[in-house]
Amino acid sequence: MERLAQWIKESSKCVVFTGAGMSTESGLPDFRSQTGLWRGQDPMKLASTHALAHNREDFADFYRMRIEGLLACEPHRGHYILADWEQRGWVRGLITQNVDGYHQRAGSQSVAQLHGTLSVVRCLRCGAEYPCRKYLEEKGTSCACGGFLRPGVVLFGESLPQSALERAEAWTDEADLFLVLGSSLQVSPANWFPQRAKERGARLVIVNRDPTPLDSWAEQI
Ligand code: ZN
Repeated sequence: MERLAQWIKESSKCVVFTGAGMSTESGLPDFRSQTGLWRGQDPMKLASTHALAHNREDFADFYRMRIEGLLACEPHRGHYILADWEQRGWVRGLITQNVDGYHQRAGSQSVAQLHGTLSVVRCLRCGAEYPCRKYLEEKGTSCACGGFLRPGVVLFGESLPQSALERAEAWTDEADLFLVLGSSLQVSPANWFPQRAKERGARLVIVNRDPTPLDSWAEQI
């Protein structure tokens, strides 16, 4: 770990990539890794464009439950350390698969949220955004214009936000150190970014509970 600390201090273009393991440290359940059903339904199917169109009541209940969880937990020490590293000029950007918005709450500013964010809800009709706690109010799924509010997350069936992808790619191309925290790097494009960084000469460091497909590419620390 001393070597890693040294590399981070020497780097000015370190890119940090965080996955579900970062959020579970805050107590947030990783719904993708849960195998159980929610009210008899598959959470993966509820988090979809199909449910938004055809099963809106359960869709809204499901996201109410997830927003309650988000508001009940907080960023942990790791989030604050990363924000501090950014402020010291060690971290160029943070790419995250997490939708909790905890990196920003902890003070990180350069964050590319590949899967959008649960911390805001957005009107399907007029595009207005509200803080997610509105969803928990009575008639909280209605915009002032009468349109339906949906969470700002990327649903199954939607493509990833182009602006976040572009920022993430630009940081990755310049990275001299690419640090993966709490991602099993199983899904695309999660696995694409560390590969790209490595191919372009960056040091790759992976910190994850379980083995990942890219472990043989990573530095041994
Ligand atoms: Zn509206």
